[in-house]
Amino acid sequence: SATRSIVTMQEYRSWVARPRTEVKAFEVTRDDVRRVFDKVRSQGRNYVHETEAMEVLKFYGFHIPKSQLTTTEDECAKLSEEIGYPVVLKVSSPNIVHKTDVGGVELNLKNTLEVREAFRRIIENAKRSKGDAKIQVGVNVQEFVANGKEMIIGMKRDPQFGPLLMFGLGGIYVQVFRDISFRLAPIKELGARHMIESTKASKLLLGVRGEKPSDIESVVESLQRMSQLVMDFPEIQEIDINPLLVFEQGKGCKVVDARIVIS
Ligand code: ADP
Ligand code: MG
Repeated sequence: SATRSIVTMQEYRSWVARPRTEVKAFEVTRDDVRRVFDKVRSQGRNYVHETEAMEVLKFYGFHIPKSQLTTTEDECAKLSEEIGYPVVLKVSSPNIVHKTDVGGVELNLKNTLEVREAFRRIIENAKRSKGDAKIQVGVNVQEFVANGKEMIIGMKRDPQFGPLLMFGLGGIYVQVFRDISFRLAPIKELGARHMIESTKASKLLLGVRGEKPSDIESVVESLQRMSQLVMDFPEIQEIDINPLLVFEQGKGCKVVDARIVIS
């Protein structure tokens, strides 16, 4: 027990002497975000469309892929050329939240033929899944983003505790692995680091079996930017970036899917 006491004293000492960091204020364009939310509210919604959510994140310094909404097959084919192959097609409809579940995501399309076929499949799947041929549905054409590790970062505003930030392993298996950590906003750099380190996903980011390490610094920064966003806008009830694709060290990260709910 004497040894344990000494260990505990040592732990306390290093906790007291931990490096202190500030809550960082990144340069962002708050008014632009305000405008997006005003528009959403003026249309009587509190669900922010995916494309709007991506814009909001862009205004707060997140990187997003080239992306365009289309409604016809021809337009979709043309835009795919403009964005450059390979592309990703995603269903876009106010009635559909989880796009993969309804067969609404087609990845890594390499030419016009593949794009046209995928477009038709997505529209058909969307209509079938909702059992209604009249649903409002478009297709988002997006640049295909390769070689990223999939992480999730998000926030849920808890009625008792406030804005609870979340970090963890992302992708479509989030619910299966439940590898996530939480912390209340606002967070500082060290807090963001601790959030990452307390998940198994951090081991993936460090690189396994000879893989190059991922850009953990960009995740640390993303968490702080998300913290700033939810502190600046108390009307944000929920926000999810899933996935955030994290590249090799020094190469940053990109948001390819996001959802926001405001009050
Ligand atoms: P949803 O979560 O609504 O099913 P996503 O947009 O997250 O739809 O797409 C599902 C999965 O497809 C992602 O988790 C990711 O693995 C992959 N994905 C989506 N967009 C891209 C992209 N632009 N580049 C590469 N992979 C993507
Ligand atoms: Mg997703």
